[in-house]
Amino acid sequence: MEKNLKVTENKQSPAKPDEEEIKPFVFKQKEVKRQYATTQIPTKVFALGGLEEIGKNTYVVEYDNEIIIIDAGVKFPDATMLGVNAVIPDYSYLVENQKKIKALFITHGHEDHIGGIHYLLKQVDIPVIYAPELASALVRDRLKENKLTGKTVVKEYVADDIWKSSNLRVSFAALNHSIPDAFGILVETPNGNIFSTGDYKFDWTPLGHYTELNKLAAMGDKGIELLMADSTNAEVEGYTPSEKGIIENIDQLFLKAKGRIMITTFASNVHRIQHIIETANRYGRKIVILGRSIERIIKIIRQMGHLKISEKEFIKPNDIDKYPDNQIMVITTGSQGEPMAALSRIATGKHQSVNIKPGDTVIFSSSPIPGNRADVERLTNRLTRVGAVVIENSANNKIHSSGHASQEEQKLLFSLLRPNYFMPMHGEFRMLKKHVETAESVNLEPGHGFVMANGDVLELLNGHAKVEKRIEADAIYVDGKDMTGQASNVIRERDILSRDGLISVVVSIDSQTNKLLSQPKIISRGSFYVRDSGNVIGESINIVTNAVLEVLNSPKPTFGAIKQAIKQSLSPYIFKTKRRNPLIIPVILNKKPSDK
Ligand SMILES: [Zn+2]
Ligand SMILES: [Zn+2]
Repeated sequence: MEKNLKVTENKQSPAKPDEEEIKPFVFKQKEVKRQYATTQIPTKVFALGGLEEIGKNTYVVEYDNEIIIIDAGVKFPDATMLGVNAVIPDYSYLVENQKKIKALFITHGHEDHIGGIHYLLKQVDIPVIYAPELASALVRDRLKENKLTGKTVVKEYVADDIWKSSNLRVSFAALNHSIPDAFGILVETPNGNIFSTGDYKFDWTPLGHYTELNKLAAMGDKGIELLMADSTNAEVEGYTPSEKGIIENIDQLFLKAKGRIMITTFASNVHRIQHIIETANRYGRKIVILGRSIERIIKIIRQMGHLKISEKEFIKPNDIDKYPDNQIMVITTGSQGEPMAALSRIATGKHQSVNIKPGDTVIFSSSPIPGNRADVERLTNRLTRVGAVVIENSANNKIHSSGHASQEEQKLLFSLLRPNYFMPMHGEFRMLKKHVETAESVNLEPGHGFVMANGDVLELLNGHAKVEKRIEADAIYVDGKDMTGQASNVIRERDILSRDGLISVVVSIDSQTNKLLSQPKIISRGSFYVRDSGNVIGESINIVTNAVLEVLNSPKPTFGAIKQAIKQSLSPYIFKTKRRNPLIIPVILNKKPSDK
């Protein structure tokens, strides 16, 4: 009581502060004593993919004549990349430094971390790939599919394994994510220790294994020179909800559903797929799997013994009508409204064996990825129109949770690891930037966070870090089987075609006499409406005629020069009048000498 009074008095007379009265208890975290080997050679760290994007994660740690790679992912094309099958990093640096490569380490079995391996192996020799159990199975399956099994060795690692080379030492820490067997990777180098989280979240009631918090804390005590951490949810406040709660909420929906249940989720969420199938089995529902990616993952986890459900519980889509409605559960791809996925085809009545009927419950255990919202809405509308009860994830029912750490979990990571430097990864630019801000709010020294782009090389040397060099790290578009990068040009052309169309310019010349034989022809496809463009066509013909004549009258006219002149003269005019940048294709018809 007396004490309170005194404090009040102090407040009223700040001129006489009584410091002895207010003595906050301050616990200071143990100072990290960082030790560095005496070396003039820097440790280099860079990404070939994974920065300013979510996808194609490929990180490289290099010291002297040794390189290790962490993850080799792929990125799936968005709707603007016409005809592209996949996007991979430019592997030129690895091709050039082939001899230095010691091993590829995989953090977990998601496509954005392993989906590039079969492309990488076609260009680069990787002596050995170390991956956790499930990822190993997925990688082996993919190598078999691509007839690359003989190209490398895939070895499984477990939590306490250690790998060593002349200068590097690699060890692992189990973390939570949406797939079993997710690990963070510690690389000890002469210039300090680097920890890469891979993808992670902290889940105190996980469906799979626990996070090895003890290891993280011990690493922090030993000193982390550079932390590379998952930035996917850097902009999301709070904590990512636990998977256990999600599956319990889905269980409630099973309890209520009277008819058939169709449930869609990400094929990457292996834990959830596993538990959805177990839930269906518990409620006596036969399981129908639709969609290749989900089918593949279920096949593999069953082979590994992670899903102990007898074969007879799985039925073929064709047999769906042989069972009462309340004994059916369909698990399907298409949670993003992808038009070719099973769920969209079901909704539009185009699926060969499954239709929607009144009484069906369709559960979206997912959330639309930004950019897909309109597609998902179109799909849910269609499903509702044909009689389904559609249940989407919301704040009330919580039937989906991200596999990535939100801000409060990111803060926990920094409290544990206390890194000297930080390189946010696995995120768009604004996520990377926000992640640095979060880190600085905990314990990262200002200026010690590096928001880098693919190809930026971070050099660590004797306790200092700097970004100086850049290496080639453009995106390579894979079109069918071509992965030379040639496809990148084709894709650029398709992009122009889709937006601005094409103009073909046909000119007939006589290369013997260097004469223009007739008026050039202009053909527009998808660029502008010719019938309403009389003047534009007429003027285009004039422009092309003048440009071609100018070349023909020059001392040494070539076909190349004529084509160039057509493009350069016509392009600005079309842009000025039509606000279009069409692909201009000059076609030159030359009078054969024999015609003379
Ligand atoms: Zn992942
Ligand atoms: Zn990922």
